Amino acid sequence: EMFGQLTSGLESAWNKLKGEEVLTKENIVEPMRDIRRALLEADVSLPVVRRFVQTVSEQAVGVGVTRGVKPDQQLVKIVSDELVKLMGGEVSELTFAKSGPTVILLAGLQGVGKTTVSAKLALYLKKQGKSCMLIAGDVYRPAAIDQLVILGKQVDVPVYAVGTDVKPAEIARQGLQEAKKKNVDVVIMDTAGRLQIDKNMMDELKDVKKTLNPTEVLLVVDAMTGQEAAALVTTFNLEIGITGAILTKLDGDSRGGAALSVKEVSGKPIKLVGRGERMEDLEPFYPDRMAGRILGMGDVLSFVEKAQEVMKQEDAEDLQKKIMSAKFDFNDFLKQTRAVARMGSMSRVLGMIPGMGKVTPAQIREAEKSLQIMEAMIEVMTPEEREQPELLAESPARRKRIAQESGKTEQQVSQLVAQLFQMRVRMKNLMGAMEGGSVPALSN
Ligand code: GDP
Repeated sequence: EMFGQLTSGLESAWNKLKGEEVLTKENIVEPMRDIRRALLEADVSLPVVRRFVQTVSEQAVGVGVTRGVKPDQQLVKIVSDELVKLMGGEVSELTFAKSGPTVILLAGLQGVGKTTVSAKLALYLKKQGKSCMLIAGDVYRPAAIDQLVILGKQVDVPVYAVGTDVKPAEIARQGLQEAKKKNVDVVIMDTAGRLQIDKNMMDELKDVKKTLNPTEVLLVVDAMTGQEAAALVTTFNLEIGITGAILTKLDGDSRGGAALSVKEVSGKPIKLVGRGERMEDLEPFYPDRMAGRILGMGDVLSFVEKAQEVMKQEDAEDLQKKIMSAKFDFNDFLKQTRAVARMGSMSRVLGMIPGMGKVTPAQIREAEKSLQIMEAMIEVMTPEEREQPELLAESPARRKRIAQESGKTEQQVSQLVAQLFQMRVRMKNLMGAMEGGSVPALSN
C-alpha cells in the first residue's frame, strides 16, 4: 500500500493525544517527535522535515480550542494543510503553447520510466482531445526506440524515429518540422538517459532544448529513490532549466520522500504521477489528495473521478436512464462489476474508499472470489431473467434452477438478487450526488 509506513507512523502521533483537552507546548512534544520520525523514515530530506515540524508545532500551540474538535483531530488538520502546502498547494497543470505545437521535452536517468511516460503522456493528452506525436530521441539505447515505437502503436500515436545515427538535436529539429507539417497539437520528445548524471547528457539536453524551445521540460524521476529524486530535480533545473517533474512508480512501495520533498527542495512542482505499468496509469499530481492518502483518510474524489470515467466508457447516459428508472439489471450489474475490476487492481479501488484504507490480501482474494461467484450465477440466467431481476425476486423455483446450474447454493442466489436491488438504490444515490457535485456517501 502506498506510503503505508508513513501513514502508520503518523497514526501513533494522533494516538498520543487521545484524552487530551487542548493542544499545549508540552503535550505536542511526543506527537511531534513521532511525526518527525515518520517523515525521516519516509526519506523526506532533513531540512524539509525540520521546517515542517517547526511550522506545525507553532500552529498547533496557537490554534486554541474549537468546540467539538478534539486535539488529535486538530493536529491532523494542521498536518494535512501543511502537507498540501509542502507539495505545492494547488495542482500544477501542464502549460500549452498559444500558437503552434506545444513541445514537451522529457529528461531523466535510465530506468526511471521515461519511455513509458512518453507514451502514457501521449495517451493522456489524446484523451483530452489533443493530437500528439512522439519523437524517439534515446539514441544510446536502440531498444528504447523500438520500445517507443511499440508503445506508440499501442496508444495509437505516431512516433518520429530515425534510428541511432543522428544526433538528438538533429532528430529534434526534424521531428518538430514533421509535427508542424502535420499540424499536431503536442510533440513529446523522449531523450537518452544515463545511469548517472554526466556532462555529455546535460550538453545534449541543452542542445535539444535550444532546438525545440519547449513549452514544458519535465524531469522524470522514480519515487522509489526518495529524497534523491528531489536532489535530481534540483540539479537538472540548475543545469538545463526545467518546468516540473513527473514522479513514476508511485504504485510500488515507495515511502513518500520524493512526493514530499521535490517541490520544497527544488522549487519545481510535480505535475504528473505514474501509478502503474499500464498506459492509463498517469494522473495529475493533486497535493490535497496525496495528503489525504498519506493521512489514511481514503480518497473519495479520486474514486468518484474513476467511477465517472468508467461510466463514460459504459455509455453513461444509457446507464443513467436505467438507474433513474430503476431498470438497472443483471447485464448492467455485470458490466459495472467488471468495470470496477478494470479500473485498476481491486486493492487500489478499495483503498480509495474511506474506511477501507487498509485492505489485506485476504480481503482482496475474497472480493475477487465473490465476483467470480456472481458471474457464474449471472451466466446461467436466461436473457429475461437478466433484464428483469423481479422474475428472480418473485420465483423461488427460478432461483433454485440457477443455483443448480451454476453449482451455487440457493442462499447465494438470493443474496445476489438482494444485492442487485441494493445496488439500484446505491447507484441512484451516487448518480444524484455526482449531478449535484457533492461527494456521495459510499457505503460498503
Ligand atoms: P526508461 O529507461 O526511463 O525509459 O524506463 P522505461 O520506460 O523503460 O521503464 C522502466 C521500467 O519501469 C519498465 O519495466 C516499466 O514498465 C516500469 N515502469 C515505468 N513507470 C512505472 C510506474 O509508474 N509503475 C510501475 N510499477 N512501473 C513502471
